[in-house]
Amino acid sequence: MKILVCGGAGFIGSAFIRNYFKNHPNDEIINLDSLTIGSNLENLKEIDKNENYSFFKEDIKNEKIIDKLTSSVDTVVNFAAESHVDRSISNPEPFIMTNVYGTYILLEAAKKHDKLFVHISTDEVYGDAENLDSFTEESLIKPSNPYSATKASADHLVAAYQRTYNMKCITTRCTNNFGPFQFPEKLIPKTIIRAKKDLKIPLYGDGEQIRSWIYVYDHVQAIEDLIFKGIFGKQYNITAWNEISNIKIVEKILELLGKSRDLIEFVKDRPGHDKRYSIDSSKIQNEIGWKPRYGFDEALSETVEWYEENQTWWEPLVDDKSLHPQPWTLNWK
Ligand code: NAD
Repeated sequence: MKILVCGGAGFIGSAFIRNYFKNHPNDEIINLDSLTIGSNLENLKEIDKNENYSFFKEDIKNEKIIDKLTSSVDTVVNFAAESHVDRSISNPEPFIMTNVYGTYILLEAAKKHDKLFVHISTDEVYGDAENLDSFTEESLIKPSNPYSATKASADHLVAAYQRTYNMKCITTRCTNNFGPFQFPEKLIPKTIIRAKKDLKIPLYGDGEQIRSWIYVYDHVQAIEDLIFKGIFGKQYNITAWNEISNIKIVEKILELLGKSRDLIEFVKDRPGHDKRYSIDSSKIQNEIGWKPRYGFDEALSETVEWYEENQTWWEPLVDDKSLHPQPWTLNWK
């Protein structure tokens, strides 16, 4: 198997590559990533010398290179995206260009060369689940912010290409991921790093927003299983059924680090903020046999330990002001 991974230098894409090579050392992976915010080639240091791995610093919007690379592989897996909701609220354009137009470029190439296209989407496309049952793959798509609207647009494009052109496509919709190598502006690493530095930890609104969390290695194993066993044309929800409020997560991390709850600082809520995300992943469990292997508390303490032991990975990221140009990232010192 030879796979073109787009966005493989990011948090989830790099976990996918590391995990995939553990399971299939003789397969080949081409990683294409334009190295925007959130990416970091340090995430892939352990496989850098692997002769079955190659890296291209390129954009998924580059039609020519995408066409050429797609023709040489069996499968394309697309992680590449602008992925931070707050950034999408202040400047939606790059989200539309990469998440929608970029997906179109990839679809065209996969169609032309008749390749399996695995598209990595998010539970956020279903919108707010407050007072509702968990969303299934048949639920209405109802995104609430520019980020999720662009992801939903891409999902629709994938579904339409599959139906119109009879393509081999699979879409995954996963809940919030956490684990090693996650960029410091996301809730869990931000909390760990700021708590370690005794800095205030900003929480939107009352902090009671509920998210469902999955350890990144459970997510990437699900994607790998779908490459081999997924049914073309289907969408698959992926969750580890860990619904927990933002404030409870922050409190758990503070407890693990032995820090005071006084570090929490409530800030003005995000506009359009969804109160709860909740999905049902019975389909992937029943059809493919995938299920999460990691308990939430165990994976959270492993993640806290990883950030404690890998200060050299995150310190340059929080020190680089160009990576945090907006006020929401606050000061890291
Ligand atoms: P990330 O920001 O860490 O990684 C995204 C990667 O895509 C980066 O390496 C970036 O450089 C690359 N990229 C961005 N624009 C590109 C372009 N135009 N061309 C080539 N590469 C480009 O994000 P992540 O958290 O690893 O998320 C990966 C995917 O998973 C995204 O599609 C996201 O929507 C989805 N997802 C994320 C979560 C989560 O909790 N993080 C949950 C569900 C789904």
